[in-house]
Amino acid sequence: MTTPKPPCHALAFKRRLLAWFRREGRDLPWRRTRDPYHVLVSEFMLQQTQVARVTQYYGRFLNRYPTIKALAKARPKAVREAWDGLGYYRRAANLHSLAKTVERDYGGKIPTRPAELRRLPGVGAYTAGAVLAFAYEQPAAVVDTNVERVIRRAFHTRCATDAAASRKITETASALQPKCGRTAWEFNQALMDLGAMICLARSPRCLQCPVRPVCKTGRRTK
Ligand code: SF4
Repeated sequence: MTTPKPPCHALAFKRRLLAWFRREGRDLPWRRTRDPYHVLVSEFMLQQTQVARVTQYYGRFLNRYPTIKALAKARPKAVREAWDGLGYYRRAANLHSLAKTVERDYGGKIPTRPAELRRLPGVGAYTAGAVLAFAYEQPAAVVDTNVERVIRRAFHTRCATDAAASRKITETASALQPKCGRTAWEFNQALMDLGAMICLARSPRCLQCPVRPVCKTGRRTK
């Protein structure tokens, strides 16, 4: 497979974004760890729940099930109780099932290969990328709705909103990945924060945006 070509201004975009993230990035509990199980718990919780709400439940769940082994051994009723308040209980059932699969098939170690990760219950392309980037510090693109919006506005203003356009945006996100793992971790978190704090869906705050000089949309903003 050929490596996608980085877009115009890629280097300046990365530099500006990383400098901003180091000053302004959010300090979230799941960013203080590289434990793949803890990262997975946060990603499952974040699938349908806002960050502020997840911060109230993440620590409580991990106090009860601090390791994947502890979760694998738990009774389904107890797991559901630990998830109480977050809703969408299917996520808790999938996470429980994932823990049992990892204990049984991988000796308790969450896999590092994308294909193996994606075979685990409840893990799609996005969650697999998140584990690779946020736990294993690999340069894997992690493209959620917020990140897709940032990349589209910054580099692909003429892109449609179909599956082909989404693939193009994911290719650009991959091409932008820094090679160094630690920097790739920061870069992916920075894209998330830019989408959540500045490049908002309805009213992007372009005048406060660190990447405005190299963003196709931002440069047109007065
Ligand atoms: S300049 Fe505006 S459109 Fe571009 S990334 Fe920043 S907030 Fe989004």
